[in-house]
Amino acid sequence: MTLPLPFRLGHVHSYLLPGADGWTVVDTGLGLPGARERWADELRSLDGPVGRIFVTHYHPDHVGASTDLIELTGAPLYQGTRDHEQCVLTWGTDRSHPVEDWFTRHGMPPTLAARLGAETALIRSAVHFAADAILVDEGDEIDGWELVAAPGHADGQLTLLRDGVLIGGDHLLAPISPAIGLWPASNADPLGDYFDALARTIDIAPRLVLPGHHDPIEDPSARARELISHHRERLDATVRAVSAGPRTAHDVSGALFGDRLSDSDQRFAVTEALSHLERLVIEDRAASHEQSGIVTYTAA
Ligand SMILES: [Zn+2]
Repeated sequence: MTLPLPFRLGHVHSYLLPGADGWTVVDTGLGLPGARERWADELRSLDGPVGRIFVTHYHPDHVGASTDLIELTGAPLYQGTRDHEQCVLTWGTDRSHPVEDWFTRHGMPPTLAARLGAETALIRSAVHFAADAILVDEGDEIDGWELVAAPGHADGQLTLLRDGVLIGGDHLLAPISPAIGLWPASNADPLGDYFDALARTIDIAPRLVLPGHHDPIEDPSARARELISHHRERLDATVRAVSAGPRTAHDVSGALFGDRLSDSDQRFAVTEALSHLERLVIEDRAASHEQSGIVTYTAA
């Protein structure tokens, strides 16, 4: 089932998996006005009840309509333990670490950071996550599907594997590459986690990945290898961007992605630059410095 999104990506896929005791819904779409009616129509066309709902990761377009679906179906919702923790940190009521502070700390002009803070508040109104989700972890099973961890795009992302088919959330996408960002509540090295997860995908060698966006991926191992080289090349470009002296993540995002991005795209550009800069620090190819609350990077 493909649901509309009001940002550039334009759509997100939910998957409906048949099972002996009803359907498993994977991912819920954004909790926009109208989402509940769209789901009610879809559910009426199913030949049986929904037995359970599963969320791959806490990003708004995947988790947003969680409580809407719970109320429509009466089914329990399952979510990864780590993912649920980040979901609550990001979309819950604790505002002690506002995202605008994070962006100004990494060199973003305060006026732009304030606009992104306002945009975050708007997105939050469309995120109805389940406070009482049933927590699951890698290795658990959901109606015969094995949960496989796929960190990187989201630290706690869990994918579903059965008979060589992987319902992948945003772990593998094509032709776009999944955003790998460092956020205030992220693990320290999301890009390193992503490299490990891609290597694991090559080991598992699923025959098909059903992604959260765009078309099914019919050669997942080849796509995983492409994404590894894509990020290796971007690491090299990131080193070049800091070779002429101290640069903030915001400066580096301009060097990597150009300086004509929309506000929303700058959000992803800065967090993506940061995941690469922090990976370079771990690889001893860059160093970070902090002065007067602003973080800069130099080549090591
Ligand atoms: Zn996502």
